[in-house]
Amino acid sequence: MSLGYKDTPILPDSGYHVHDGDRPQPPVVTPGAPGTSELITPPPSDAIVLFDGTDLRHWRALDGGEARWRVENGSLQVEPGTGDIRTVESFGDIQLHLEWAAPAEVHGEGQGRGNSGVFLMDRYEIQILDCFQNPTYADGTTGAVYGQYPPMVNACLPPGQWQTFDILWQAPRFDGEQVARPATVTVLHNGVLLHLHRTLLGATGYRCIPGYTPHGNGPIRLQDHGHPVRFRNIWVRRLDTYL
Ligand code: MG
Repeated sequence: MSLGYKDTPILPDSGYHVHDGDRPQPPVVTPGAPGTSELITPPPSDAIVLFDGTDLRHWRALDGGEARWRVENGSLQVEPGTGDIRTVESFGDIQLHLEWAAPAEVHGEGQGRGNSGVFLMDRYEIQILDCFQNPTYADGTTGAVYGQYPPMVNACLPPGQWQTFDILWQAPRFDGEQVARPATVTVLHNGVLLHLHRTLLGATGYRCIPGYTPHGNGPIRLQDHGHPVRFRNIWVRRLDTYL
C-alpha cells in the first residue's frame, strides 16, 4: 500500500512529489526523556503563557467566537468538529514551546492517527501526528514542515505520553509583492533536532506546491484534525525585541 501520492506536483529542491510515498522515512531516534506528569519546560520570565492549564482566554475559534476545545485536568484537548483555534494575539519572530500528547487509545493509521498541528502565523504548519510505529508519507511525519520537509529524524514517544515541541521561528519578510527573505524554522521534538534553520517554500498546502502571499504578523493556530490530541504548557517569547 502506498503511503502517499505520485500524482502531485514535484517539489523544486528535493525532486520528490508533494507527500511522496517513496520519500525515505525519517530514521527513528528514541528521545532521552520519557513523558512525565510534570511540565517539561516551564515558561521563562519573559514568556507570554498562552495556556497554563486553566482557561482559553488567549484563544478563539476561527470565526472569532469562543474556543470550544476541552480544558480538563490541566490540559487542552481538541474537541473534534469544533474547528481550529488560534491566538488572540499576533506574532512575528518567536520562540514557541508546547507540550502535546496523542490519544493513548490508538485508532487509525497514517495521517488518521493523532493528527493535529501548529500553524505559525496562521499559515505554516509544523505537523503533529502520532508517528510512533506509524509510517506515513515523509513530509507529513511528526514535526514535518507539512508538505515540504520531513524532519531529520522521528523522535516520537508512545501515544498518551507528553511530548515537547520547541520551535524557533523567523517570519518571512516582504518587499511589496516580493519575498525579501523567506521564513525559516528550527524545531526540536523531545529535545531532538528535527530542522535546523530550515527555509520554507511558502504557506502550507495539501497536494500543491507551496508559495508565499505577503502578510503581516499572524496568530498561532492549533489544528482540529478530528482527533482528541491534548496540549499543555504553551508559551511563546517574542524575539522581535532581541533580534
Ligand atoms: Mg496536521
